[in-house]
Amino acid sequence: MTDKKFVYFFGDNQTEGSNKMKHLLGGKGANLAEMANLGVPVPPGFTISTEACVLYMKNNDYPEGMWDEIDKNIDKLEESTGKKFGDPENPLLSSVRSGAPISMPGMMDTVLNLGLNDKTVRGLAKRTDNEWFAYDSYRRFIMMFSDVVLGIDTDEFENIIQQKKDELGVTEDTELGTNTMKDLVEEFKSVYKEKTSSDFPQKIKQQLKMAINAVFNSWNNERAKKYRQLNDISDELGTAVNVQAMVFGNMGETSGTGVAFTRNPATGEKEFYGEYLTNAQGEDVVAGIRTPKSVQTLKDNMPDVYRQLDDITQKLEQHYKDMQDIEFTIEKGKLYMLQTRNAKRTAAAALKVAVDMVHENLINKNEAVMRLKPSQIDQVLHPMIDPNSELELLSSGLAASPGAAVGKVVFSAEHAEEMAQNNEEVILVRTETSPEDIGGMHAAKGVLTVRGGMTSHAAVVARGMGKPCVCGCDGINIDMNEGVFTAKGYTINEGECISIDGSEGKIYMGEAELKMPNVSGELETMLQWADDIRSLNVRTNADTPEDAKLARDFGAEGIGLCRTEHMFFGEERIPVVREMIMADNKEDREKALQKLQPMQKDDFLDIFRAMDGYPITVRLLDPPLHEFLPNYEDLIEKIKKLESEGGKQEEINRVNDLLKNVDALKETNPMLGHRGCRLGITYPEIYEMQTKAIIEAACELASEGTDVIPEIMIPLVSNEKELDFVKKTVTDTAESVMNEKGTNIDYLCGTMIELPRAALTADKIAKGAEFFSFGTNDLTQTAFGYSRDDAGKFLPLYIDKGILESDPFAVLDQEGVGELMKIGIDKGRSSRPDIKMGICGEHGGDPESISFSYEAGLNYVSCSPYRVPIARLASAQAVLKEEK
Ligand code: ADP
Ligand code: MG
Ligand code: MG
Repeated sequence: MTDKKFVYFFGDNQTEGSNKMKHLLGGKGANLAEMANLGVPVPPGFTISTEACVLYMKNNDYPEGMWDEIDKNIDKLEESTGKKFGDPENPLLSSVRSGAPISMPGMMDTVLNLGLNDKTVRGLAKRTDNEWFAYDSYRRFIMMFSDVVLGIDTDEFENIIQQKKDELGVTEDTELGTNTMKDLVEEFKSVYKEKTSSDFPQKIKQQLKMAINAVFNSWNNERAKKYRQLNDISDELGTAVNVQAMVFGNMGETSGTGVAFTRNPATGEKEFYGEYLTNAQGEDVVAGIRTPKSVQTLKDNMPDVYRQLDDITQKLEQHYKDMQDIEFTIEKGKLYMLQTRNAKRTAAAALKVAVDMVHENLINKNEAVMRLKPSQIDQVLHPMIDPNSELELLSSGLAASPGAAVGKVVFSAEHAEEMAQNNEEVILVRTETSPEDIGGMHAAKGVLTVRGGMTSHAAVVARGMGKPCVCGCDGINIDMNEGVFTAKGYTINEGECISIDGSEGKIYMGEAELKMPNVSGELETMLQWADDIRSLNVRTNADTPEDAKLARDFGAEGIGLCRTEHMFFGEERIPVVREMIMADNKEDREKALQKLQPMQKDDFLDIFRAMDGYPITVRLLDPPLHEFLPNYEDLIEKIKKLESEGGKQEEINRVNDLLKNVDALKETNPMLGHRGCRLGITYPEIYEMQTKAIIEAACELASEGTDVIPEIMIPLVSNEKELDFVKKTVTDTAESVMNEKGTNIDYLCGTMIELPRAALTADKIAKGAEFFSFGTNDLTQTAFGYSRDDAGKFLPLYIDKGILESDPFAVLDQEGVGELMKIGIDKGRSSRPDIKMGICGEHGGDPESISFSYEAGLNYVSCSPYRVPIARLASAQAVLKEEK
């Protein structure tokens, strides 16, 4: 004999377990024990522990002593209920319910009314003076036992019931008379015999043993195993088995069964919310055989029961300090609770419940802040597809930018803009997008691409715009010639409507109903609590005044990354930018730059105004110049066309010139090519122009009383001498502008740390840099040696095969890239202790990466405007998690 305990009693003041024992008793068993401890009416029973299940699985046999314990607990249960298993006068009936520590679909269903056989059914009928009820329970038991324990299809039984209903011309189970119930029992037993070649078990102990076995074995059925694999749940947990005395909701009109929530699970509204059926058992409510009534009608039908239910559920909420999802049964006017658990809820409900519970003094602000997953904020802020809409799923891709959108399919940016001008709502569908598509992306309601990952152009830009986007949707095929795409055997024409869900990465045929989120005061309240807790500052990545304003509304405390190249793509600017690039001498280049400078200054004026009083990090030009020139192949086409159509020689020469330049600027590895500070060293006049625009704008605003704190950032530095060289251009220019204007601006000059060599030599670089911003996109790219634009070809497979846990461009690789950051932070502070440090790039808005940034000691994170609220919440949670 071992002295290990495998069975725990609950109910009737003899409860041995509690809510603290979920691991051992499973969620259901632990909560049944807890309710019994609280004095809530729970039918008594016992829980066989998960440990017993694990041992059974391992040894292919029951652990020693388990059955003895079960026998003892049966005695206790019989004593407690005054009934006996198999007693023909007064039979005990029980349910057998599975319950793992983590709620898991795929596990065995519940068996009700175990303990009935040909003899006890008569005893039950006599005892309750209700023959109908006894045979209704028996036929239910045979059907559930056959289905759950032996896997016999329920249709075998349902068909027989339907036949009877048709014969009698009735629609509901409750309309079948006692004799019909008796017939059903006999016919069900025949089905059992036919399917199993044995009689329906009449020995109660055998029934119980078979049911317990079935629960244990269901732990390893294919569905359950698959679910655990997908959700990273250990196979070692095992499931518990609850054997519980039955109470009966099918004893007439003063009996019933129901499910309810202590608050509305969709909205979080504080209202008792649920459904029940009279004269019914267990599954009937969810099975949809009859239409349940709202629990509110209980108020009129059984006011005492309603009041008691209301009391109990409030007590449970107070006790668990969270919204509960409960199951109950009423037996002849007496209420029993059968289950309680923390309720699943929508993001909107999670937010409202957490805030309300603080106001009700149920939880404190810190607890409330931990109740909402940062990613759930996305759902609160973006439109979503109505969960009730039934649409054909066409394909899935990456959930690249949250929210849902509906619109007509268009395959080109131009077309998208045209249609948007005619007030048509469109979804831009592209193989992949490039900077030239920005206008079309702006015009579209949503973006769908066939290729590209979480940091592809489409994904980054869409997130920046707060526009729904599904990327890397390789299940669709675009045929530009036909003007169609195909997916799952369907052909969708340009102009046909589709719906995309960027929060789930799904695309649907047709027009979905969209639901607008209500940004109510609760989000604001929650985020203010988060602000009081967090120490990490949250800035935004913004290149336009609109984005800067939006981000301020979301609570951004400055700009961590203002990219200047996007400003060069404007319609009236790109020709000047090209003029600058194609200039073959410094003089011509300066002429073009002089034209650009006032435009650039105008950009800064509005952005700086929007960020009054907050720091703005402006990154000097970063991308290789060829990005501003047309595509090589397109130009060749154009020349051919001009020549064949007899175009003007002047025009042909111009395009030829362009072509020569494009050719000259062509690079084999543009990501590692002539870009970043390398441009500032070869063409100092570009950075000169940009610095001038920044400082002039700041001077102008200073005289208006706007407080501008510019931080000029030099990209792609790998060596302190690069920084020194470029910094001289910046400081000389700034000096001369300030002298000229007679105004002093407190600007900083710093650098990005986005190359491994920069991180490794950060002590030297920090001597010249007044701040660091970790550019984790490029740092990830260069640390792994993965080209961001090509990684889509192998990353999905890497993740599938478990080589990588997640896309390192979306979730910071703490082990490698994070280590480089830590080196950079330590070395940087070693030579400049007060150096300001932050992170920009996609990771700045990812909750896990934010946690890491906080722990690593950064001063701020910077992310796209729509992710600012997420970052505020995540950085507060980082503090609370550390305190724990
Ligand atoms: P699930 O995990 O699928 O919710 P449960 O074990 O909670 O399964 O059982 C489903 C339903 O069966 C319960 O909601 C309840 O209505 C009914 N049920 C379970 N145990 C009993 C019991 N002891 N007496 C009456 N009904 C029961
Ligand atoms: Mg249940
Ligand atoms: Mg970079």
